Amino acid sequence: MKAPRIYLSLAHMGGHEQKYIQEAFDTNWVAPLGPNVDGFENDLEASLGNEVHVAALTAGTAALHLGLILLGVEAGDEILCQSFTFSASANPIVYQGARPVFVDSEPDTWNLSPEYMEEAVRDRIKKGKKPKAIIPVHLYGMPAKMDEILSIANRYEIPVLEDAAEALGSVYKGVNCGTLGQLAALSFNGNKIITTSGGGALVSKNEAYIRKARFLATQARDTAPHYQHSHIGYNYRMSNIVAGIGRGQMEVLAQRVAQRRKNNQYYRKHLSGIKGITCHTEPSADFFSNYWLTSIIVDPKQTGGLTRENLRLALEKANIESRPLWKPMHLQPIFASCSYYGEKVSETLFDKGLCLPSGSALTENELKQVVDIIQNMFRL
Ligand SMILES: *Cc1c(COP(=O)(O)O)cnc(C)c1O
Repeated sequence: MKAPRIYLSLAHMGGHEQKYIQEAFDTNWVAPLGPNVDGFENDLEASLGNEVHVAALTAGTAALHLGLILLGVEAGDEILCQSFTFSASANPIVYQGARPVFVDSEPDTWNLSPEYMEEAVRDRIKKGKKPKAIIPVHLYGMPAKMDEILSIANRYEIPVLEDAAEALGSVYKGVNCGTLGQLAALSFNGNKIITTSGGGALVSKNEAYIRKARFLATQARDTAPHYQHSHIGYNYRMSNIVAGIGRGQMEVLAQRVAQRRKNNQYYRKHLSGIKGITCHTEPSADFFSNYWLTSIIVDPKQTGGLTRENLRLALEKANIESRPLWKPMHLQPIFASCSYYGEKVSETLFDKGLCLPSGSALTENELKQVVDIIQNMFRL
């Protein structure tokens, strides 16, 4: 019999999700607003701290889109965006008719390089257009170098929209990711650290932004007994059913972070002795990653020619899912004509990197199966 599949990252319910959904049914709050939406937003605000306000939305992508709208991004504007990311970081720029300008990563966190970012800001200004916003990403849960990024952004007076879709529960210098920039987007898609099946949230210390986000996300209805509109609206508000899942998941967020960090420790303990394999690790005590996904770099020059693709295929043969790191946006066909600042940091990560199964429900036996396959490949 074939071994049951080990997945990269699966939904992991806490147990009370259905209680909140039942309440919604019992009170007939089956709508894109209601007590679960309010409750979920309150839970997120309490968990993130730093006096933020939160609007629960249909998706992280919707949160990024509304974030750009709130920052006044319009057709023809330019937005600096981390190239090494999932396409949803960049797509909302194009929804606004604006142009992404991609920036390479730095090798410590794998996130937005402050040096290349500053080079990009200067060069775009010289070419006649100051970027309207900057999107750093806390990829795989690893906080970006936010002090450096924010100090450059502030010097040039450019707002920062954090893509914290993968980083709920990650902390940078004692402050939660998602509360560092002017605005931030969270995601609760099916494979994220906690999930509502699909969903997202926009976060900001500026309450006016969040009030306006809720207004725009519910079709931008002016105050009037009839339907009156003076803005283009969106149907982006989270449903009260989905938010019920979120309330249940918030009860176990701290546990989920602890479980993913434990996975990461296990992999580091058992793989770090292998020549040519390095685990992506927090660069210093300033960085606390939720380790949403544990990822490794496989350097064929040191492994005797073994590549990350050899590892991926060997794991797949044992019915274990693993995945190459994100393919940088400046290498994607759809963004081929966009400007790019950097060298080959993100390209090298894509060539050599692999994400290992990292779900919070993985058993030690399952982690051992993954490690055994990799260790066996290096046995003579
Ligand atoms: C998941 C993700 C998003 C999009 O979130 P959705 O809720 O799926 O729309 C955006 N950016 C990054 C980096 C993500 O991983």
